[in-house]
This record gives sequence, structure tokens and C-alpha cells, in this order.
Amino acid sequence: VTSSYGLEYPRATQLELLILGAGAAGLSAAIYAALLNINTVLLDAEGGGGLMNLAKTVENFPGVTGKRGLTITESLLSQLEFSGGQVNTFEAAQDFEFAPGRLRVRTNAKEYRPKAVIIATGLELLGLKEEYGLANERQYLGKGVSYCAECDAPLFRDKRVMVCGNPFDAFLLKRVARQVTYLGPVPEDYARQVPREIIEANDVAYVEGNLEELRGSHRLEAVVVDGRPIEMDGLFLTKRRATSEFYSTAGLEVDGQGFLIVDRHLATNVSGVFAAGDITGEPWQISKSVGEGATACLSVFRFLTGQEMRNLGWALQDEWQK
Ligand SMILES: Cc1cc2nc3c(=O)[nH]c(=O)nc-3n(C[C@H](O)[C@H](O)[C@H](O)COP(=O)(O)OP(=O)(O)OC[C@H]3O[C@@H](n4cnc5c(N)ncnc54)[C@H](O)[C@@H]3O)c2cc1C
Repeated sequence: VTSSYGLEYPRATQLELLILGAGAAGLSAAIYAALLNINTVLLDAEGGGGLMNLAKTVENFPGVTGKRGLTITESLLSQLEFSGGQVNTFEAAQDFEFAPGRLRVRTNAKEYRPKAVIIATGLELLGLKEEYGLANERQYLGKGVSYCAECDAPLFRDKRVMVCGNPFDAFLLKRVARQVTYLGPVPEDYARQVPREIIEANDVAYVEGNLEELRGSHRLEAVVVDGRPIEMDGLFLTKRRATSEFYSTAGLEVDGQGFLIVDRHLATNVSGVFAAGDITGEPWQISKSVGEGATACLSVFRFLTGQEMRNLGWALQDEWQK
């Protein structure tokens, strides 16, 4: 292809960008990549869409009102297809080698050697199953049980809710709910910043004990703590863990909770490796994930351009590119 500057650019035959995870962040990055004609592979361990698929109603994604998360997934997937991209579904990334100029990712299908990678594999939700050994958590999902205070707070206006996990979620819910109870003990990573006294000073009731059971015929009506039923309309389980163990083993820097550390260009500490969405930490929102996916892809574009210029003998690299 001849550019308007008269340089001969070979159309990329080598894989330029590998995007891991086709949730909100990965799909957004892939749409940008397709529109910019970046030679890209987008893969997902499952069918794509990620956590969005679990959201019953999304009220806070600007431009979209009251849609199911699945509808937003379908819309992103068809936009990707319209832009010329696609998802390799049920292809899980398993092994990583991240060194500047030498990026390799092995999946259950093949090995990729891209010039750049965007990691958008999200976080793991720590539900009651792992934490308390309760079996009926999923039955009440969207019917009282929630994983996300920022997302579902509007659905609990004037209701009674309990928060188990991040104490800041209790303060957020205080703005809409009639009564908020925090189930202690406060997890270690918040305990120093938000001890019990601060929680109670914020007009949040504090209860400590083991969550043993959820009750309710159709929707959640009560939770049982240490044998004592407490009437409750909502239960927010907001402990989260990043899926980044493999990445830290491969040399990427992570924070104390396991989230990937990135700069404002979404670049990690390894040149050519970027990250977007829930895996970069709070807030865990569709709009943030979509925004970071777009930003990461534009950073990849600058990175690739910098590499090409360098190959042509120009030192045209942003100072943020290591
Ligand atoms: C019940 C529920 C309701 C919610 N409601 C709202 C809401 O109303 N508003 C809002 O803004 N946000 C809401 N959220 C949060 C929102 O869904 C997430 O913040 C957002 O979808 C995260 O997108 P992501 O792309 O970063 O990660 P994810 O959605 O987690 O996507 C990651 C993808 O990576 C794939 N993957 C993981 N590991 C690998 C691997 N090794 N190889 C290949 N692929 C891999 C996964 O299969 C997944 O598809 C809700 C979340 C839940 C659970």
C-alpha cells in the first residue's frame, strides 16, 4: 500500500495485536483495531461478553437505558463483525512469555507471537460458594444477590441491604437504600483504612458472623447469620480477585490485590503489553472497560507506529514507550 507520504508500507502479514478476553474491554479494543486495520486476533476462553452477560438490567452505561447485559454483548459483537473483526471463541490463553520484543502466548489451540498484546481477561468473582460454602447463591442472582454496588444500587432504593466485602460499597448504598448492614469482619486489605468504628460512624449497622443461608420463596427475603435470620432485600457480595496470577509469573507487575499495574496509556511494565477493563482494578464498570479497551488499542497503534518508524531509522517513539 502506498501512503500519501510516498513510503511503501507492506500490509501487515505478521500478527500485530493479540487481545486476550472478549468482554466489554476486549470487544471495544477489537472494534477499534478492526476499524484501524490492525492485524488482530481476539480470543475468549468462553463465548464472549464476559461478566456483562450476567447483568439483568444495565442502567448506567451512558447511551443505553434499561438493557440486559446480554443485549449489550450482542450489540458489541455485531459492531465488531460489521467493522471486519471476529472472536475466536473457546480458545483460552494458557502460557505466556512477556519480554520486550519477544511476546508469546500459547492457547489450547496454538502459539501466537504478536507485536503487541492487550490483556482484558477481567476478574474472578468470589461468590458465597468459595467463601461460605453456600449452594443457593446463583438462584438469587438478580433477585436480591448482587456482585456490584455501583451497578445495582439504583435497584435497591429504599430497601434493606447487606454488604459483604468492600466497606465503601456500604457507603455507596447508603445513598439510596433505606437501611444498610455491613457483615464483618472487614477484609484485611480494607481493615486499616475502614475499621468497624468508621463503618458505624457512617450510619451503617455492623454485624459480625458467618453467613450460613439465604432465604426467600422467589426473591431474597432474609439472610441467616450464625443461626439468626435477618430480613434483607439485597445482599452485595463484593470481594473480588484478579485473574492475573499467570501474568505476574510472566513478569508483569501487579498490585496488592492482584490487579495489573498500568499507566494512563494502559501500558504495563513490559513494552508492547497493555491491559484494559476489570483486570486493571476499580471501578468495575462496563463504561470504564469499554473506555480502557479503546484507549489501549489507540496506545497499541502508537506503539506499532513507533516500532515501524524505528525500523525505518526514525527515533519517533513516545517517551512512555520503553
Ligand atoms: C451480575 C453483574 C451485574 C453487573 N451490572 C453492571 C451494570 O449494571 N453496569 C456496569 O457498568 N457494570 C456492571 N457489571 C460489571 C461489568 O459487567 C464489568 O465491569 C465488565 O463487564 C468487565 O468487562 P471486562 O471486559 O473487563 O471483563 P470480563 O467481562 O470479565 O471479560 C473477560 C473475558 O475474558 C475471558 N477470559 C478470561 N480468562 C481468559 C483466558 N485465559 N484466555 C482467554 N479468555 C479469557 C472471559 O471468558 C471473559 O469473557 C456487572 C457485573 C455483574 C457480575
